[in-house]
Amino acid sequence: MILAKRLNGVSESATLKLNAAVQAMKAKGEDIVNLSAGEPDFAPPKAAIEAVEKALRENKSKYTPVPGIPELRELVAKKTNAQQSSLKNPWKSSDIVVSNGGKQAIFNTLMALIGPGDEVLVPAPYWLSYPEMVKLAEGTPVIVPTTHENKLLATVADLKKKVTPKTKILILNSPSNPTGATYSFDQYAEIGKWLATDPTAKNILVISDEIYDQILFTGKPFVSFLQTTPELRDRVITINGMSKGAAMTGWRIGWTVATSAITQAINTLQGQSTSGICALSQAAAVAALTLPPAEFAANQKTYHHRRDLALEILRQAEKLKVVPPEGAFYIFLNIGAYLKPGEDSLSFAERLLADAKVAAVPGGPFGADDSLRISFATDETSLKKGCERIRDFLNRC
Ligand code: PLP
Repeated sequence: MILAKRLNGVSESATLKLNAAVQAMKAKGEDIVNLSAGEPDFAPPKAAIEAVEKALRENKSKYTPVPGIPELRELVAKKTNAQQSSLKNPWKSSDIVVSNGGKQAIFNTLMALIGPGDEVLVPAPYWLSYPEMVKLAEGTPVIVPTTHENKLLATVADLKKKVTPKTKILILNSPSNPTGATYSFDQYAEIGKWLATDPTAKNILVISDEIYDQILFTGKPFVSFLQTTPELRDRVITINGMSKGAAMTGWRIGWTVATSAITQAINTLQGQSTSGICALSQAAAVAALTLPPAEFAANQKTYHHRRDLALEILRQAEKLKVVPPEGAFYIFLNIGAYLKPGEDSLSFAERLLADAKVAAVPGGPFGADDSLRISFATDETSLKKGCERIRDFLNRC
């Protein structure tokens, strides 16, 4: 075998097959509603586009420092400190590494921190890349089941069941992709207290993926994990970026916020792999991060409206279980009651596509094979049509 062992058991995107079917049907002129998008349908801020034009004119397109340009790291530190105001020792720009999206930031962190034998706790349902990245870093993902009673969020009791002396990292994600579930301050504080005080948890690090922080329907401020337990400062790596809140997916800007030793390791890794990220995107990120929150309020309102519209229609499917999302732009549908014997979520998604002409993402790769993920990052007409088709399909099942 010529391939490296580290790729053993690492899955390719499980949705590719479905996407190929969607494209083929569209090519034949079929009227498909695609609710599988994982990215905002809004345009990026105008200020970001203008900043790129300016950077080009001023020839600011050379290599940048590996961890990012100083202005951007400064702004990221400022944003994080505002969300983690309880820290006694606030973050400095030197605690930030800017990477190619939140994805590379998470990958860098795992590569820097784990190796063979290390276990990483991943509460399910999870963003599908977490377990695969853990495997690429030659660690072992340990999936932590959660319950519908707790809105598919992990509790200390859930986590305790999976902890071993080999547990090195816990990955938290709020608001969640794929469920949109969001940890409250108290829920996070309880996990934080356990990590800070329980001898079996005292060496566990946390990756807190906060990439959907700006898309929230709780009516309350966003809760950053460290805000609830500031004493864990040296054990938490906070991930965020510009993809979701600022609708800048293709610009590839994400970052880690971590204590110096971890930041140093991530910096070394990035310096020997990709180097600093695209100079033009960094200029754009500086412009976007300088905008007042009001700039994004309209998008937020639109997401909220679409969420309510979709939920209202989907609730008309009798046996469907839905956790109303409190953030992000996904609705996770529990289709357990509609599955035929032996049918998995991928086969169900294929049946939905063939019969109702709606593309949704199967829950299997997110660790929930009785579910489907739909996205409301799409225009209202398509969303309404897609949800009505799903409702009618389910009521026919
Ligand atoms: N984390 C979660 C939960 C996500 O859903 C995504 C993107 O889908 C990412 C991280 C990475 O986003 P990006 O690499 O575009 O910043």
